[in-house]
Amino acid sequence: MSARRPFVAGNWKMNTDKASAVELATAVARSAGDAADSVDIGVIPPFVYLGAVANAIRESGVNILLGAQDCYHESNGAFTGEVSVEMLADIGVRIVLAGHSERRHVIGETDDDVNRKVRAILAHDLQCILCIGETIEQREAGETDAVNERQLRTGLEGVPLEQLGRLTIAYEPVWAIGTGKTATPGDAQDAHAKCRAVLADLYGIDAASSIRIQYGGSMKPANASELLAQPDIDGGLIGGASLKADAFLAIVEAARSAQPA
Ligand code: PEP
Repeated sequence: MSARRPFVAGNWKMNTDKASAVELATAVARSAGDAADSVDIGVIPPFVYLGAVANAIRESGVNILLGAQDCYHESNGAFTGEVSVEMLADIGVRIVLAGHSERRHVIGETDDDVNRKVRAILAHDLQCILCIGETIEQREAGETDAVNERQLRTGLEGVPLEQLGRLTIAYEPVWAIGTGKTATPGDAQDAHAKCRAVLADLYGIDAASSIRIQYGGSMKPANASELLAQPDIDGGLIGGASLKADAFLAIVEAARSAQPA
């Protein structure tokens, strides 16, 4: 962990129902306590529960960032089933994911789709978490660095330096997501450092050193401290472990403890 403020976000994916979403958000906010002063904490429920979770967070008075799992790049119009960045901002969303591996590999989003989303999110003053990462086949073929570099360069095409303050990268090896397998702290650090080098090539060293890079892929209380102790790992994007308030908050606490004194 570096001097960058840690950022831990829980991606609830297509889980919870309305009552349990509100209960989970309330439990996270209630127990976050002082941690929210030193760690950015986000919860990312399914679209249909965003309004209910927004209310729960507002009522708690705790600074928990509300996130959406996806968006469409156009503002409005004949795009049945899609949700725009403006609509998300309108109901209090502050973070939007772009390019989560399940959207790339299950739904079939391309690098260009992801880039359009990243540009729309950042252009509307929201925070964007751009997710990147290699599949097991790409890893075994020795393509990890090339895949990460391509997803970063394409994902950020046309994004100006002035908008980088609202950008977070999530390095999520696809083979580690939801599988219980985790990258070793050394392998994750190596990937993060290489991603930061690509960012430095695109935007310069100063900008690259201020961009947060989260690790995602079966992060849980048992492995969080070791991962978060790495110098280029600035937080986590958490799936499974974010569905239990105590596990999620244990990871937040690990991020807080990993900060230099
Ligand atoms: C994710 O969905 O981004 C993720 C990292 O999931 P999990 O923590 O369950 O691997």
